[in-house]
Amino acid sequence: MLSSSVETFAQPPAYAIAIHGGAGTISRKMLSKAQEQAYRASLERALLLGDSLLSAGHEALDVAIQVVALMEDDSLFNAGKGSVFTFDGGHELDAAVMEGHTLRAGAVAGLKRIKNPVRLAREVMEQSPHVFLYGEGAEQFAWERSFEPIEPSYFDTERRRNQLRNYLKPTGNRSADSLPKGTVGAVVLDSKGNLAVATSTGGMTGKRWNRIGDSPIIGSGTYADNEACAVSCTGHGELFIRKAAAHDLAAKVKYAKMPLIQAAELLVMKELQQFGAEGGLVAIDRNGHIAMPFNSEGMYRGYKYPSKPPVTAIYADEPASARP
Ligand code: ASP
Repeated sequence: MLSSSVETFAQPPAYAIAIHGGAGTISRKMLSKAQEQAYRASLERALLLGDSLLSAGHEALDVAIQVVALMEDDSLFNAGKGSVFTFDGGHELDAAVMEGHTLRAGAVAGLKRIKNPVRLAREVMEQSPHVFLYGEGAEQFAWERSFEPIEPSYFDTERRRNQLRNYLKPTGNRSADSLPKGTVGAVVLDSKGNLAVATSTGGMTGKRWNRIGDSPIIGSGTYADNEACAVSCTGHGELFIRKAAAHDLAAKVKYAKMPLIQAAELLVMKELQQFGAEGGLVAIDRNGHIAMPFNSEGMYRGYKYPSKPPVTAIYADEPASARP
């Protein structure tokens, strides 16, 4: 249901963070209690890291990157360590970062030997004249910037291999299995009032021909503008690209002057839904309003305000927005 409530403009919080760990066919039936607890614990750990960095005065971009790097190292998520397999049995990782007060951005795609793609995205932003590098060139840049290559097998996990096996079976349920579950993203408001975002993904199981999804495309899966919001998307990348989803949300806020939570619900629950784009997003504005709508069965997500406990959620009957 679209919210019709009027936004309240209480005092913005000193800082705030929201994260997602991917959207998809995630239901209470599908997750065991132990799996659910593991996801909630991982989300909470990421939120607490973000909170401790923010309370120590770290900038939004730095916090978004460190939180996403922690999630990349967690095999539960389809990013970094837990990345899905390509059709050919490898891994190709994509990531992007953006900061809202400068509109500086960095993105990488098709990485095979970089442990934390989100850190390389930052390096592209800060240490190259470019915004978006892919494949071997991106890795060449990484080695020149003293990144250490890792064995591609580092990204192999049994769970993701089974998903590929299932995907490749002639009788396999391709759509359900290739649909994303585990891309990670963080949106942050820091104590200077600046916004930033980071997104990282292994993409979709069975992807071919150096396919690149929406996550590393600035304006599709990732966007931040202090005059609008910071937003990280997760879902069926091809359709998010065609809708320029992340920038569409920022434009609704910036030009149509829509309140963030209402704009995000309109985009995800109506426009993306009608377009067949399954997924969701997390977004934050400078007032600390947080939107986390999704039109799939579930989305791993959470948020944290200063001096309040972290909130994690997975299912549709749990919070999908928050105000300070
Ligand atoms: N959006 C990502 C992609 O299409 C996948 C995901 O969000 O899980 O690559």
